[in-house]
Amino acid sequence: MEDETCIFCRIISGEIPSKTVYTDTQCIGFRDVNPQAPVHLLVIPRKHFASPLEAEEADEKLIGHLHRVAAELARQHHITEGFRIVLNTGPGSGQTVFHLHLHVLGGRPMRWPPG
Ligand code: 5GP
Ligand code: ZN
Repeated sequence: MEDETCIFCRIISGEIPSKTVYTDTQCIGFRDVNPQAPVHLLVIPRKHFASPLEAEEADEKLIGHLHRVAAELARQHHITEGFRIVLNTGPGSGQTVFHLHLHVLGGRPMRWPPG
């Protein structure tokens, strides 16, 4: 399940340090190393898969759980006035780490459409 070439799997195993803000049996949350907003967190499943394109029916609950954790982190970080959950999918979207992750961005005005 773990992919040793994957940066996020290495963060989950503790091999690469991160500023962790949340952990449970299914996922972890940590601060993005290159924040694009005053609050910029990443929520990632412990299970390695690249994106929703690889998700299976059995992953539906997990993907829902990631969104509930993202909402809880938004509450804890006081950005519920307006925040964004982003799931970049594929190189053309800007995805650079091919382990599914939700960005949770807030603390500044969020423009639309995103770039
Ligand atoms: P993507 O571009 O794939 O949607 O998002 C990957 C995110 O992971 C980027 O925002 C990038 O700053 C972040 N990132 C990449 N490597 C690391 C790392 O080693 N530690 C942390 N905390 N964030 C990382
Ligand atoms: Zn991974």
